[in-house]
Amino acid sequence: MKSTRIKYNPYWDCIIVLFFRQPFSSKTLLFHSDVFELFLLKIRLEILLEGKDSVKLLKQAIMEKGRVLSNDVLKVDAFLNHQIDPELMQEIGKEFTERFKDEGISKILTIESSGIAPAMMAGLYLGVPVVFARKRKSLTLVDGLFTAKVHSFTKKETNEISVSSEYLLAGDVVLIIDDFLANGQAARGLVDIVKQANATLAGVGNVIEKGFQAGGDLLREQGIRVESLAIIDSLENNQITFREE
Ligand code: 5GP
Repeated sequence: MKSTRIKYNPYWDCIIVLFFRQPFSSKTLLFHSDVFELFLLKIRLEILLEGKDSVKLLKQAIMEKGRVLSNDVLKVDAFLNHQIDPELMQEIGKEFTERFKDEGISKILTIESSGIAPAMMAGLYLGVPVVFARKRKSLTLVDGLFTAKVHSFTKKETNEISVSSEYLLAGDVVLIIDDFLANGQAARGLVDIVKQANATLAGVGNVIEKGFQAGGDLLREQGIRVESLAIIDSLENNQITFREE
């Protein structure tokens, strides 16, 4: 995605509009200043939608706030897995939207709990609902369930995840979003649920992919489109090494 070089200052247009309005009083000139105001509003919207360089911001957050716990685990509790940075999530949502906007997505599917924040923001910009797979059985969610077994890489336990058939329909075009892609267990379970619903899978979007683990290759080998905003090639020696784009 193109980065925005102009840093928008909301006071500029106010100052310019005031400047144009003040000295003139004729209707024609007022009309011109209204047109000019609209023009500025349009530019402001374009800048808002174009956003910042989300990948750069994400990598910066990983470098500054991420903590390497071992050669294969990265802790990002400061902005994604515990405390959440809404502005960064917004940029992440825009980036997923940019990458998948032509796929005719009708629903986003994620898994609780850390996938929800980035999925929500993508849902907001794509204008579609977000469904999250539950890890625990709900008392109100008993009938018509799609289920899959998922082994958690970080918790070392196996959960049966479930999604109500009410919220995933045969005609849906689904984008799966998650915080991390490691061995691909969570993604595999979600892909399985999309298949059970007879819905179409548009792709899998991950905020962070650990490229040295098998998940990415496994999904791509199946012909699934995988878009990861930041791919980490190594966490060895306490160093975070990103894959060059
Ligand atoms: P996978 O199923 O691909 O093996 O692992 C993905 C899931 O495990 C993600 O939903 C994420 O919550 C968690 N996960 C995997 N690796 C990491 C990691 O290095 N750090 C954190 N914080 N979570 C991870």
